Amino acid sequence: MSIGTSLIERESVGLPDLPVRYLRFDVDNPYVSRLKSYRAFTLGLRDDRFLRYVEEVLTMLDVHEQKGTFFFRPRYTLPNRALTELILGRGHEIGHHVDRTRDISEMREEKTILEEDAGTVLGITIHGRGLPVLSPSGDGYHDRYLSHCAELGYAYEGTGLRTEFDRYEKLVVFPAHTTLDRELSASIRNPVMLLHPCRLLRSETVREVFKKVLKTYRFVPMKEALDLGFQEPLALR
Ligand SMILES: [Zn+2]
Repeated sequence: MSIGTSLIERESVGLPDLPVRYLRFDVDNPYVSRLKSYRAFTLGLRDDRFLRYVEEVLTMLDVHEQKGTFFFRPRYTLPNRALTELILGRGHEIGHHVDRTRDISEMREEKTILEEDAGTVLGITIHGRGLPVLSPSGDGYHDRYLSHCAELGYAYEGTGLRTEFDRYEKLVVFPAHTTLDRELSASIRNPVMLLHPCRLLRSETVREVFKKVLKTYRFVPMKEALDLGFQEPLALR
């Protein structure tokens, strides 16, 4: 193939040669509104706006032809069939944002709930131990957590528990992430960028930074790191 042809092909595909990164969305809340989320957490109140804000994030990604990985909490932010199909149908990935990590049977229970809806889920992240005032907190990390993940058959752990890509048995462990806020002060050195989609809709400033970032990198679903050869610093080139 001549150089000329490859240039034409590249232009026709419309993908500039940008550094590859991964967008990790932790979907912690059922609603953008903290009060509505709190009522959903404590009283189980849901309406047809449940998780609808995720669709707005999908639209932002679509505009820039970017792909992300959405980690849902099966106990609190389980997407319905329509949202699941929308996410997967547009080439994004669904992962498990786990709450109960102490007891492997409770982890398995969450995985089963999510997979009934979303099919096989490859990735998992921890929902941390925050103040349980507005959002129920999870058990967080402990020294048997990775063995639980491996035993349950996850392909990767995406929280960023290591400084480099690493392995625990067959499980690929992702390195530390950066957050959108840090993008304000420095270009991203970490392969993974963590976002909480609610924040994108609460703040115009955050949205503007996000749009800038979407033009700077080529974001692919986190599962693609498994194919790209996670041990190489490929993602940082
Ligand atoms: Zn979380």
